[in-house]
Amino acid sequence: MIKFPKPIQELIDQFCKLPGIGPKTAERLVFYLLKQSMEELNDFASALTQINNSVIKCSICHNISEKDPCSICSDKNRDHHIICIVAEPHDLAAIENTGEYKGVYHVLGGVLDPLSGQTPDRLRFNDLLTKLQKNKISEIMLAFNPDMEGEATMMYLNNLLKPFKIKITRLARGMPVGADLEYTDEITLSSAIKNRKEM
Ligand SMILES: [Zn+2]
Repeated sequence: MIKFPKPIQELIDQFCKLPGIGPKTAERLVFYLLKQSMEELNDFASALTQINNSVIKCSICHNISEKDPCSICSDKNRDHHIICIVAEPHDLAAIENTGEYKGVYHVLGGVLDPLSGQTPDRLRFNDLLTKLQKNKISEIMLAFNPDMEGEATMMYLNNLLKPFKIKITRLARGMPVGADLEYTDEITLSSAIKNRKEM
């Protein structure tokens, strides 16, 4: 096997750590970058540095943001009595992109998956409970992928939140089983939000 100069091999190794990128693709990406102008490479490098330096987490909803609280949490025109609970920031982005939802969010930080070590203490349940004790919330909307881990997390949340006597809804079952919120088209997701069902 050919041995690349060290800086090149290092960059290939970094690309390999990204989801869905194997060694061959990593190589192709690095060689593509090598053909770019100095200016384009600098832009790429500075975009990478910026996500490290200027992207923070909102202390209220835990979404990625440039400021704290984020633009959603600080928006007075949104309905702060409805909280949509999602697993990850990209799920929040998928819901936002539909333009259908006008409430606020709580990013849990993942889904329950005890076999992979993802136990309740690793997710932001406590923070959610504090939020419910402090604020008047009229509805909790659960927006998780309709797969095994997503279902288990929604069941857990439903039991956890029962004592609060708040209306708990979940996305309508229009989404195919095993589908990913992130890749569901906006029309399907929009109607799943509109037709959400009480649990
Ligand atoms: Zn926020």
